[in-house]
Formats: sequence, structure tokens, C-alpha cells
Amino acid sequence: LPVVAIVGRPNVGKSTLVNRILGRREAVVEDVPGVTRDRVSYKADWIGRQFMVTDTGGWEPDAKGMGLAIAAQAEYAMRTADAIVLVVDATVGATATDEAVARVLRRSKTPVLLAANKVDSERMEAEAASLWSLGLGEPHTISAAHGRGTGDLLDKILEVLPESPRERFAVGGPRRVALVGKPNVGKSSLLNKLAGEERAVVDNVAGTTVDPVDELIELGGKPWQFVDTAGLRRKVRNATGHEYYASLRTRAALDSAEVALLLIDASQTITEQDLRVLSMIVDSGRALVVVFNKWDLVDEDRRYELDNEIDRELARVPWARRVNISAMTGRSVQKLVPALEGALESWDKRISTGQLNSWLKEIIAATPPPVRGGRQPRVMFATQAATRPPTFVLFTTGFLEAGYRRFLERKLRERFGFDGSPVRINVRVRD
Ligand code: GDP
Repeated sequence: LPVVAIVGRPNVGKSTLVNRILGRREAVVEDVPGVTRDRVSYKADWIGRQFMVTDTGGWEPDAKGMGLAIAAQAEYAMRTADAIVLVVDATVGATATDEAVARVLRRSKTPVLLAANKVDSERMEAEAASLWSLGLGEPHTISAAHGRGTGDLLDKILEVLPESPRERFAVGGPRRVALVGKPNVGKSSLLNKLAGEERAVVDNVAGTTVDPVDELIELGGKPWQFVDTAGLRRKVRNATGHEYYASLRTRAALDSAEVALLLIDASQTITEQDLRVLSMIVDSGRALVVVFNKWDLVDEDRRYELDNEIDRELARVPWARRVNISAMTGRSVQKLVPALEGALESWDKRISTGQLNSWLKEIIAATPPPVRGGRQPRVMFATQAATRPPTFVLFTTGFLEAGYRRFLERKLRERFGFDGSPVRINVRVRD
């Protein structure tokens, strides 16, 4: 996960800010100068993105003096963090120590945000203006103790934070596919077909072993990484606990994949077990291609039934791409690559803030949000906070009903695509 380091001299409110970011309002903070605390990292979450927060409070001044200790703190943050927040006490103004650390941070290639803390009321905003002199850009006024302005600061942090290391890692490398589905739908058969040779023993017995090994397969001239496929290669007759292991395997595969190929046996009724795998995929936020296998066994009647089952059972993923194949005969297997590529393109897609907001304005003008409790919530602004999957944040003056949020998602998809990818819309109410 990307790392955000909080730096600053003692007593400016670093730990209070960390607690605020973690949402642990009750935590007691003793920011006594000279008391050495360990440098600690915590996992944090803001509007759907996860990152680590490091409290560099451990660097308290020692014999070398305040200036050196704080400079070391800043140097460390520059080496290890993906974004740095320098906290300054706005009621005191920039001290010589603040200036020393700012001097170090001005050389930083890592983005630095300046937080002017202890601005507990509007009246005190003006005092923070003098902090422009630190040369670190706009002072973001906050009250870590009361939560004032911390949401805006977090928005700014997310803006400058790179996507997580895994996300960066995937760029340019082979795309990562999880081949999932209940036992006996034809996963091993498909894997063999794609790999172009009969390498695994396929039989009618449902059962796999868990062994996380990936397989690289070239399709359409590009390598694709089929993650965690060892269990598919070595089919083991193992009735006991099979379901449990199958679900562990599915979770592990989804964890390290970017897109899921969900196999469903088209010749049989869609079952609870298929839907459980689907739920895991939806929870994982991965792109999705639904593959109806054993199409060679599907006749007119079954086809009609299947259409009804799809309408009923797959209604929660109307955006998923669908492909009908036969792993046995190889029919339409070549359609998988364009489906995977399309789904990943949507999963990676970023809409500019300008485009997004001009679309939003039109939609809101034509269909404003429903009135709740006599008040009409206003939707002020939208931004795409993340990709993989595309995650949007709407800033509003009031709660938006689920029905209206679904309406917005539908319109968003109509306008910008996102076929094959989930889309997340988070609403932030501002007062
Ligand atoms: P897995 O448990 O999902 O890996 O499923 P397998 O690949 O082991 O397949 C289970 C059974 O379905 C085997 O008997 C396969 O031969 C058969 N099968 C797989 N794909 C097809 C297909 O497209 N058509 C037909 N008719 N049978 C298939």
C-alpha cells in the first residue's frame, strides 16, 4: 500500500491527526515533548482507497538538538513515503524548527502537503496565511482535534498519492486472470485448451488441490498470467472439505488477479454455488467476464431457459461481459481475449474531472435528486478518486437515495462505458 508520513515537531498534533485519519476519536494522545514513542504505521481507508499512515513521532529531539532530529525525520519520510504531510501549529506560526524542516522538504521529490493545525474556528483561518512563507504551497487549515478540514486534507492526500505498488507493478506486465467457477464447470478443460495441450488429467470427479502457482499463457500475441492454477492442473479426488478449499482457492486467485473469468456450465441450471462465486468476484472489485461453457450441449429449449436464468440470477452484474464457448470443441474460445481486454480497459479507465462534471451538470439539471425531509440535496462536484475499479466520489449537501445512486451509475455507464468493470460511487455529504 502507498505510505503517507506525518512529520512535524513535537506538540503540533501529529498523533491527533493520525487518530483522526484512522477514525479513532477516542484514542488518548500524549504529545509530550521529549517522550519517545515508536514510529508506527497504521492501515487507513478514505473513500474506498487504502493506504498506510506513518506517525513519525518517534523522532524526538535528542542531544543533537531539535533541528537535526526533525531534519532526520523529514529525510526518512522522503526516502520511504509516497506522500508527506508536514504539520505546523497555526496558533504559534512558523518556528525556526518548522523552517528547518521545510527547508529539507522543499527538495523533496515526494509530494508534500502543509497542514496548519489547531485552526479550530473560521475566525482563526487568517492566522494560517503567514505559513505560506514556508515555501510548501498552500497551508491546509485543519483542526485535528475537532475534525475540521481533515476531510479536505485527506482528499488532497489521495490526489497526490500514487496507486498501490501492486497496481503499479501490473502496468506493462502480463495481465492477471483468475479462472473461477464451481467444480466441474470446465475450468481445467479451458485452461488446457488455452495452453494448447493436454497437460492436466481431466475427469468427471470434482476436486482440486490448493497450490498457488501461476501459469503464463500466450493468447492473441500477448502473455496472460492465469493466477493460482496449480489446483486446476492436478486434479485430486478429495471429497472432504472440498468446497472449503475451493472457496479459499477462489479468494486467493481473485486477490492477485485483475480480471475474473467466471465459468458457468450452460447446460445446467445456474445454482447457489455459481452465485456464491459471483459474490466473491463482486466483493473483490475485479473486472469480470462471464463464460458460459459446454455450449455444445445447449439446445434451443435450454437456451431459452438460460436466458431467463441470466435475467434473474445475473441481474446484479448487468455490466459483465458474456461469452458462450465450448472448452471441449474449442468453439468461440478465441472470443475470450477481446472480452478480457475490453473489461480491463474499463477497469483501468479514468475520466477527467472536467468531463465528469459537465456530464454531471446535465444529468442533475434534467433529473435532480429526490427531495428528502423537505430538503433538496445538491450534488456539487464529482471526481474519480481511483481506477481498478473506477471509483467516483460525489460531494453533496445531503444524503442521496440508493435509487438515485443507481440511476447515476446507469447514466455514467451510458455516457462513458465501463463495460466489464464494476464502478463504485461514494457519496460525501458536506455541511
Ligand atoms: P473443473 O472442475 O471446473 O476444472 O472442470 P473440468 O475441466 O474437470 O470439467 C468437468 C467435466 O466437464 C469433464 O468431464 C470435462 O470433460 C467436461 N467438459 C468441460 N468442458 C466441456 C465442454 O465445453 N463441453 C462438454 N460437453 N463437456 C465439457
